[in-house]
Amino acid sequence: MNSTHATTRSTIHDDVEEILVTGDQIAERVAQLGAQLEADYAGRDPVLVSVLKGSIIFLADLIRAMQSTLSLDLMEVSSYGASTESSGQVRILKDLSRPIEGRDVIVVEDIIDTGLTLNYLLKYLHDKGPASIRVVCLLDKPARRLAEIPIDYRGFTIPDRFVVGYGLDYDERYRNLPYIGVLKPSVYGAASPEG
Ligand code: 5GP
Repeated sequence: MNSTHATTRSTIHDDVEEILVTGDQIAERVAQLGAQLEADYAGRDPVLVSVLKGSIIFLADLIRAMQSTLSLDLMEVSSYGASTESSGQVRILKDLSRPIEGRDVIVVEDIIDTGLTLNYLLKYLHDKGPASIRVVCLLDKPARRLAEIPIDYRGFTIPDRFVVGYGLDYDERYRNLPYIGVLKPSVYGAASPEG
């Protein structure tokens, strides 16, 4: 039976092989990133643009580590192709709700793997005429990078393993885990190809 009922924050889910980043490590790093952004964007009223759904927990914690004036916008994109591979062909499912022309944009991403999704998104956002764009990502997985992405603020660099938790899913599950963990291979084998 799968157990998500944690008695402590460090209790590991049955489907997770290993915890790569603990909840406490995430909290400490996110607080640092928030403080750094706050200092760098003082008085600039930035707009944080985040991509659903994987980034929402990072975004929620990050903005609460920033006290200065800011606004949020959310996009949702879908990559064509197999569920665990990024094709770089991106379809926008939910667009920005307000113009970003002349604004200082901070793109908040959960994880950058091949970089193809973000590469597309950055070009898309650039075309809308913002004053500046910077990227903050919680997890950088550089091993499979295909597009060069300027990552201005980075939480953790991790090895080439498929991770879940803290917003990241596999087949829409595990987003609620309070840590970043590696799934057991048996879980992949059992999943449907649709993802
Ligand atoms: P990229 O275009 O950089 O290859 O893919 C970025 C997107 O792929 C991420 O926003 C995320 O949705 C997904 N992704 C890449 N690596 C992982 C991973 O290890 N775990 C999960 N859950 N999603 C990943």
